Amino acid sequence: MRVDVVSIFPSYFDGLELSLLGKARASGILELRVHDLRDWTSDRHRTVDDTPYGGGAGMVMKPEPWGLALDELTSDAGGDAPTIIFPSPAGEVFRQATARQLAVREHLIFGCGRYEGIDERVFEYAATLGEVRLMSLGDYVLNGGEVAAMAMIEAVGRLIPGVVGNPESLVEESHEDGLLEYPSYTKPSTWRERAVPDVLLSGNHGAIASWRREQQIERTRTRRPDLLPE
Ligand code: SAM
Repeated sequence: MRVDVVSIFPSYFDGLELSLLGKARASGILELRVHDLRDWTSDRHRTVDDTPYGGGAGMVMKPEPWGLALDELTSDAGGDAPTIIFPSPAGEVFRQATARQLAVREHLIFGCGRYEGIDERVFEYAATLGEVRLMSLGDYVLNGGEVAAMAMIEAVGRLIPGVVGNPESLVEESHEDGLLEYPSYTKPSTWRERAVPDVLLSGNHGAIASWRREQQIERTRTRRPDLLPE
């Protein structure tokens, strides 16, 4: 998979050189390219923002650098039209199911907003170049799209075959079947007077599977009842 990221703070993404995604990049499974939006400016100050039409607080990202960036990144890709993702608190909420949809795409482009956001016409223009999705990490406001894009890239990247060593570990996770994951324990069997549930030491795989399922349902009911059907 190819992933292009456009940001005015490209060094945010240095962390994606670590751990499993770093290995995926080194092995070529994930081709991640991070670009500085200012490289598509032409004035001496490399300006990417301006005051909002209609007045109001803050600055808005100018459309011109975004247009040039999108033209360039979509022209040399080949294959299917890319999916262009703009992190936004006003977008659809990014979920595990979204990560699954995106993990089978050939080319993703992330456009990271700053200030009060990006000139609205950029989203319309981007839709002429690929599939556009405005994606929110959750109902709160971040300073920029970088942290949101990193979270999305990690959630998508770990679903690409070969990135996580044991694919079974992906199936049993929270949100994969609409429920939260069951509790996990490791050695020692007693720690600070707290014992691991007996059933997990029983060797009875059927009983363990039933217990885990009950725990998933109970956890979801108490912590995230909104995930359960009415
Ligand atoms: N004025 C915008 C609004 O009220 O919708 C918020 C702008 S925010 C300060 C700057 C940038 O941070 C946004 O353009 C977006 O890229 C990113 N951002 C902020 N909160 C986000 C969230 N919850 N999910 C995804 N991206 C977010």
